[in-house]
Amino acid sequence: MAELAAEIANLKAWKKAVILAHNYQLPDVQDLADFVGDSLGLSVQASKTDARVIIFCGVDFMAETAAVLNPGKIVIHPAPEAMCPMSMMIDAANVRELRQQHPGAPVVSYVNTSAEVKAESDICCTSSNAVKVVQSLPDREAIFLPDRNLGMYVQRFVRDKVLYLWPGYCPTHQQIKKEDLLQLKKDHPRAISIVHPECTPDVIDVADKAFSTEGLVGFIRSSGEREFIIGTEGGLIHRLKKISPDKTYYEIPSAVCPTMKKITPALILKSLQTLEPRVTIEKGIMDRARGPIERMVNMGRGD
Ligand code: SF4
Repeated sequence: MAELAAEIANLKAWKKAVILAHNYQLPDVQDLADFVGDSLGLSVQASKTDARVIIFCGVDFMAETAAVLNPGKIVIHPAPEAMCPMSMMIDAANVRELRQQHPGAPVVSYVNTSAEVKAESDICCTSSNAVKVVQSLPDREAIFLPDRNLGMYVQRFVRDKVLYLWPGYCPTHQQIKKEDLLQLKKDHPRAISIVHPECTPDVIDVADKAFSTEGLVGFIRSSGEREFIIGTEGGLIHRLKKISPDKTYYEIPSAVCPTMKKITPALILKSLQTLEPRVTIEKGIMDRARGPIERMVNMGRGD
């Protein structure tokens, strides 16, 4: 691994590349990255990098977002088959139909959507700033897609607006069950339980806190508590152990996103050697998707 890491570091410098990795990536991939973070953090990094090449270690929509924000750069997704099932639950035609059903209602798209869906949207959001984005809209109603659970979570804080939700969901967070969380709370009574807003409402109801992954990292870093139940994809625990090694983390064994585990150090090396596979998006879609993404980035964090 040390040899591979050294080769990757050399190639990265030679090709003027940066490696961005999501919090749910394999530990070895996170350790090779220049920046590890959530969707918003990675979008911000992608928008301000001066690297010539971006190696994006995440799922398809994240690499697409980096490409939309960097039309002049080479964006590489080392495992193009790493596709987010939630983002595949809606397409551009569905968004156009929603607009017809709710004329005048702005479309807020979770960043977990394809570039085509983003191109049909008014503004994007991440789980970190979804509440802030919806609150910022002057309208009394909005279409929120594709994550129904996140939409219901936002609705808890935005009582003066009607949200029209799409029945999409994250299979990984959907399978975190209230009973699993209650059992962990019983086994570790001193632990603070924190879940992701992609979890179902009954899970959020029994948790102590709900945060985006970056919000969760920030909370734990500054907390005086010692034990935490992590109600999101288990990959985050690798980062937490590096940031706050003196604390104890209890994971939910079923919370694994298989598509997030497809990128390996060997694939990163191959990508740097070949500068393939590149993310390509039709120019018209890129240009229309950029505004909604930039509005999301400019909104900043909300948790
Ligand atoms: S954790 Fe859920 S939302 Fe994130 S990439 Fe996996 S399936 Fe998609």
